[in-house]
Amino acid sequence: MEDLKKVIVIRYSEIFLKGKNFGFFEKKLLNNIKEKLSQFDCDVLRTNKRFLVENFDAKQEKKIVNALLTVFGICSISVAVKLDTDLKIINDYVSSIKIKTQNFRVTVNRADKRFPITSIDYSKSLGGIILKNNSDVSVDLHNPQTTVFVDIRENGYTLVYTDVIDCLGGMPVGTSGSGLLLLSGGIDSPVAGYMMARRGMAINALHFHSYPYTSENAKNKVIELAGIIKKYTGSIKLHIVSFTHIQEAIHKHCDGDFMITLMRRIMYRIAERLALQKGYQCIITGENLGQVASQTVESMTVTNAVVEKLPIFRPLISFDKEDISNIAVKIGTFDTSILPYEDCCTVFLPKHPVIKPKLEKCLKEESKLDIDALIDEAMSNIEVVEI
Ligand code: ATP
Ligand code: MG
Repeated sequence: MEDLKKVIVIRYSEIFLKGKNFGFFEKKLLNNIKEKLSQFDCDVLRTNKRFLVENFDAKQEKKIVNALLTVFGICSISVAVKLDTDLKIINDYVSSIKIKTQNFRVTVNRADKRFPITSIDYSKSLGGIILKNNSDVSVDLHNPQTTVFVDIRENGYTLVYTDVIDCLGGMPVGTSGSGLLLLSGGIDSPVAGYMMARRGMAINALHFHSYPYTSENAKNKVIELAGIIKKYTGSIKLHIVSFTHIQEAIHKHCDGDFMITLMRRIMYRIAERLALQKGYQCIITGENLGQVASQTVESMTVTNAVVEKLPIFRPLISFDKEDISNIAVKIGTFDTSILPYEDCCTVFLPKHPVIKPKLEKCLKEESKLDIDALIDEAMSNIEVVEI
């Protein structure tokens, strides 16, 4: 039983639905996995509707598993022992398995029809072998606490494993175009970026800061948040735009209750311009229906109205705050998001922000500003951070 070869089996699911385009999705997923594992010494092989990670140092196994847990498009993985498809070799190995629960079952999959025993018969036979070598355990076919999977593959080898680890699912990043994420330092927007990347979208980001009203810490917090979601989304170009003069101009010239609405209409204009310049195909925000005054359907109607050519995706629109926070904890952004640095939106916060803004009133207030000049100025000085 020496020299057991450990491998990691990677399964994917949704991309099977892709019909003719399956090859494109599979290749993208394989490349994303290879890139993620490039820090390890190992091989990633494509087999029939699965990938296998092989030839890695046992000491790296946990780290490789953890890295795979961040790749969208993988539905589950298993650490398996890879054996030659040979009755004696498989029987010998299975006889060494120690069952740590009260009951178990064996599930044989016979993808290689040349194997001489049917899967049902072989499951029974292997179950008998395990019973002989483990006292005080019984077989439970319906609710087993442990399942020993014996997967007899087409190409002459057999994989044996007991654990199936659920992964993130979703689609491989890079298969659904690219978007521009409006990234604040809050809880919601990093989660929104994560959710869109989960559907295969490549993510780039835009952050507005209001130095000196907001501190360098606020900016660094956003860079840090982008660094955390990068683990899932892959590399991000973070564009940082100064919003200071725009906020000052609105504050000076316009009805204070409209501050947030007008700010957001300008943010969206800048976002669309930048996205069109860079070829990003949509705008993504962390907006959430009813969460604050700027996120009522009326507010979103007047902010939406300035974006002409691109869709705005709000993947969190129907989520409860608690659900969003739970995802933030799971993906590791929560603790950074709650650091208490001022966001540019909070600096000039009106006492009574308008909840149901009317478009005519927005237009009237905006006519007091030279919006194009303000936007040109903001866009002439964009800092880009490669995350
Ligand atoms: P978040 O937790 O993402 O900050 P929020 O609940 O604080 O969201 P708002 O401040 O109204 O809500 O912002 C709504 C959305 O607008 C954010 O999710 C984000 O996409 C975008 N946004 C807000 N402030 C900024 C900013 N300074 N830079 C870039 N985008 C921003
Ligand atoms: Mg915010």
